[in-house]
This record gives sequence, structure tokens and C-alpha cells, in this order.
Amino acid sequence: MEIDHIIPVAEGGSDEEENLWLACRACNNAKSTKTEGLDPLTGRSETLFNPRKQVWQEHFRWSASGVEIIGLTPSGRATVSALDLNNVISAMVRRNWVSAGWHPPKD
Ligand SMILES: [Zn+2]
Repeated sequence: MEIDHIIPVAEGGSDEEENLWLACRACNNAKSTKTEGLDPLTGRSETLFNPRKQVWQEHFRWSASGVEIIGLTPSGRATVSALDLNNVISAMVRRNWVSAGWHPPKD
């Protein structure tokens, strides 16, 4: 895991805890300096999900197979798309976690 700035330092984001979160390398690389992404349903630019200020379950759910993350809101859909949360590698890893009974999380 890597520490990511929710608002990038280059855009005035601070090193305070409320602006930091843990992200895997794939998500951190995909997010880069983005704070917005396109909602594929509407084509509009939306603010990316903020794990410090928003509740995951209100913006996302797991697919029935437990492999894919489904965005439920404009912010959720934009985040799934911008961070490529259902990329081939992540899906393969989740599929193995499902097989082992470790995924999706119960909470
Ligand atoms: Zn990730």
C-alpha cells in the first residue's frame, strides 16, 4: 500500500491526515493527480470518491460475483472509471479471493 494525497500537493493539498489515505499501487498510479473523473453514464465530470469524507457503501457495491466494483452514484461511477478499479489484474486477484472465501468483505 502507498500513501496518497486525496488533493494532490501540486494543487494545494496538505500532508494532514484528512488529506491522506492508503491506496494500492495500481489505484494510486491510476489516480495520479486526478480529483475528478467522467461519469460514464452522464459524461459529466464528477469529484472522485473521498474515503475520508464519504461512505463506500453509499457509492459502490460489489457485483454478484464479488469480482467487480459497481459505482452507484455519479462520484462512484467516475471513480470506478478514473481509477480503473475493475482492471484485469484486480479482477483476477478478486476472483481468487472469492474462491478462497475471503471476498467480498462482509461489512
Ligand atoms: Zn487499489
